[in-house]
Amino acid sequence: MRLLVLFVLAGSVSAADLLKSQALGSGVFALIGEIGGRTYENHALNANFGVIDTPDGAVLIDSGASFEGAKLLDAEVRRLTGKAVKWVINTGSQDHRWLGNGYFASRGAEVIALSRTVATQKANAIAESDALAALLKERFKGTQPAYASREPADDRAVLELGGRRLEIRYLANAHFPGDVVVWLPAEGVVFAGDHVYVDRLLGVLPQSNVSTWLDAFKAIKALSPVHVVPGHGSVTDLAGAQRDTGDYLAFVASGVRRFADDMAGVDQAVAALGDAPQFAHLANFAELHRGNVSRAYLRLEAGE
Ligand SMILES: [Zn+2]
Repeated sequence: MRLLVLFVLAGSVSAADLLKSQALGSGVFALIGEIGGRTYENHALNANFGVIDTPDGAVLIDSGASFEGAKLLDAEVRRLTGKAVKWVINTGSQDHRWLGNGYFASRGAEVIALSRTVATQKANAIAESDALAALLKERFKGTQPAYASREPADDRAVLELGGRRLEIRYLANAHFPGDVVVWLPAEGVVFAGDHVYVDRLLGVLPQSNVSTWLDAFKAIKALSPVHVVPGHGSVTDLAGAQRDTGDYLAFVASGVRRFADDMAGVDQAVAALGDAPQFAHLANFAELHRGNVSRAYLRLEAGE
């Protein structure tokens, strides 16, 4: 009996349970995932996604972390727009940005990503798949890394999809090499992917480059967006993005540079920069901040 109940509960999960949808006007939607970590329960959809309604079909920005997760996103897109996903754009190479590509390709959608982004996806595919298979267990079934069928080589791709103009823009290496934003100039909406974190602390990973990430952030500001859909956290404006991401990147980048210039060593940098009460309200601060400083310092010291 208990097993049956669990089965029914597991079978009834929908994207609307995991992601909050927010209309931004003109048929543009943000799907906001929880800001905590990946879990079995959330299908590793702990990130934000974008949906753009066009007369010819829907555009989905980022495809989720698995075949099953992609299926949930697909159902949510249909609920919001009444249409199937015709195009998928990947803003990055972290699992939840692209491991759902295979599902959408199998439904006839065109997957679009810059070749820089695809290159990092290829480099990360095995490690990401192994980690998610362990976490999502049977919910990972059917997931195979699948790459874009349209792969612009330039750093800026201007697309006309269903009569809508969208620009994919590579700005600089950020959270991962080859991360991009999707910019809707007519609507003033930027889907910033993992360039921008709101409400929670961003993560500096071994592949992240804080100083070029800060450059990318400045390039987002230069677009003068009205709405910033971050990779994680609430939809915001430039001031909100500045507060939770821009100021933090500047703090870490300039802080580690000061210590690296003096060849002070990573321990001293972490000790001095490890308390940053101005950012302590952000979720995950206690777990991530000191590691962020340490990785940013070591990367700078290595001269990368
Ligand atoms: Zn992310």
